[in-house]
Amino acid sequence: MYLPLKKLKKNRTQRTMLKKFLRGLEKRKIRGVDILAQKLNGDAFREIDCLKCANCCKTMAPTFKKAEVKRIATHLGMTYDGYFKKYLKIDKVGDIMNKYTPCQHLGKDNMCSIYAIRPKDCSGFPHTQKRDFTEFIPETHIQNVDYCPATYYVVEKMFEKLGAKKQVS
Ligand code: SF4
Ligand code: SF4
Repeated sequence: MYLPLKKLKKNRTQRTMLKKFLRGLEKRKIRGVDILAQKLNGDAFREIDCLKCANCCKTMAPTFKKAEVKRIATHLGMTYDGYFKKYLKIDKVGDIMNKYTPCQHLGKDNMCSIYAIRPKDCSGFPHTQKRDFTEFIPETHIQNVDYCPATYYVVEKMFEKLGAKKQVS
C-alpha cells in the first residue's frame, strides 16, 4: 500500500491522532519500540517510492554543516560565500539552512543532483530508520507525520500494533 501524498494531506484527523499517540509514546516505556520501528521502516520503504514523492525536498529545508556547504560549493565550482549567499540562511537557533523550497538541487524527475554529497540531514531523513526512534519523536517524527508518507506509514502501523493504551513496565 503506497499512501499517496494527497491522501496523507486529506487525513488531518488521523494525523492529529497519530501525533497524540507519539507524544504518549515518548513518555511511556514500551519494550521493543526501536526494533519495531526498524522493521516498520523497512516495510515502509518497500511500499513507498521516494522518487514518486520528494515532498521532503519540495517542502522542507535541510540544515547544512559548514563542511557540507564547502563540499557542495566546491563540487559546483562556487565559493563558500557565493553558494551561501545564493541559497542559504541562518535560522533562529543558528543552524545553516536552505533559503528556499523546493531545494535548489531537486530535479524535475525528483532526483537530487548532488545525491552522493548531499547533507547528512538529507541522507538521514526521515530518521525512522534510526535505532533510537523515541528520541526523534519531539523534534522530528511529530512534524514529519504531516509531510512524509514513510513516517506516516511507520507511525500508523506502530499505533495499530501498540494501541493507545497498552503499556509495559
Ligand atoms: S523520505 Fe518521506 S517525504 Fe521524502 S520522498 Fe521519501 S516518503 Fe517522501
Ligand atoms: S540536497 Fe538533495 S536530498 Fe537534500 S533537500 Fe536538496 S534535493 Fe533533497
